[in-house]
Amino acid sequence: MLLPDKAEILHLLADEENQDKLFARADKVRQQFVGDNVLLRGLIEFSNICRNNCCYCGIRKDNKRLKRYRMTPEQIVETAKRAVDMGFQTVVLQSGEDMWFNAQRLSAIISEIKKLNVVVTLSIGERSFAEYKAFREAGADRYLLRIETTDKDLYHRLDPGMSWQQRYECLLMIKELGYEVGSGMMVGLPGQSLESVADDLLFLKDLPVDMAGIGPFIPHPETPLAQEKGGTLSLALRTMAVMRLLLPKINIPATTAMEALDPQGRLLALQAGANVVMPNVNEGEFRRLYELYPGKPCLNETPTHCRSCIGLKIKAALGRNCV
Ligand code: SAH
Repeated sequence: MLLPDKAEILHLLADEENQDKLFARADKVRQQFVGDNVLLRGLIEFSNICRNNCCYCGIRKDNKRLKRYRMTPEQIVETAKRAVDMGFQTVVLQSGEDMWFNAQRLSAIISEIKKLNVVVTLSIGERSFAEYKAFREAGADRYLLRIETTDKDLYHRLDPGMSWQQRYECLLMIKELGYEVGSGMMVGLPGQSLESVADDLLFLKDLPVDMAGIGPFIPHPETPLAQEKGGTLSLALRTMAVMRLLLPKINIPATTAMEALDPQGRLLALQAGANVVMPNVNEGEFRRLYELYPGKPCLNETPTHCRSCIGLKIKAALGRNCV
């Protein structure tokens, strides 16, 4: 199969009219290369405290209206145990850049969770090589760090005080340390061109990533981008479908942001190239306060309910099993 080049990628991204054909093609590639099983990852959002000020993100430092929380190490390990009891074989630990979780504290948590015989993915942002190394030695298997956009000017506008080059180097460190590498980006950011989305896809292909998530940008009312237009589900799905063509074997989540825009968002994504779903396994308040963007689904559900509901929905609608 011939891989699309940049001109073809741009054409596929722009062609809303024929997107169903693209989705069917991506679905076929997904089936052929990674099979029909939908891989579940239990997402533990363990702290919404963040030192950064990303203009799109609801948990940015300057959002003074958000109630902040930090789960204790015991609560994090307990949540992981419950996830394992629910049948999850991978847990994803995600947070803002909360430096309370230093190498020593987070490594201890990772080691405890690894005793449960589960795959551990980290998604906690930019750290030093020494910290990434410590987490890896404690047993962390995978790392998710979205590049957010490969348009450096846009990145520097939207992520004040941060450096695109630094983020890129973090991805290289993660790779060098033998983590499975996850990245990805948002689509529909203010000032982001389709050409830059095409470049993002080529960046992921070059790295290359083992997994990548794509979500529509959703404006959060307590951020500087509150008045901007958000990304659309259809562009996010087309971008994801093209990514499946470019990287047939990687794991691609049907992202929560897609579901935030449409109650069928994740099901649609699973029919357009995605093969992973990451249900939130937090309980109660911790579930509601990790507000990256408005409209996150299932905020008032229990994790057990969510886990079985997603499984049943996927089986009923698509005839595919969750593992
Ligand atoms: N601190 C970690 C985790 C970030 S939150 C890190 O830096 O990697 C996970 C992802 O949510 C981000 O990488 C970003 O792509 C996405 N996100 C944040 N705000 C968003 C918004 N308003 N709309 C859509 N996605 C958003």
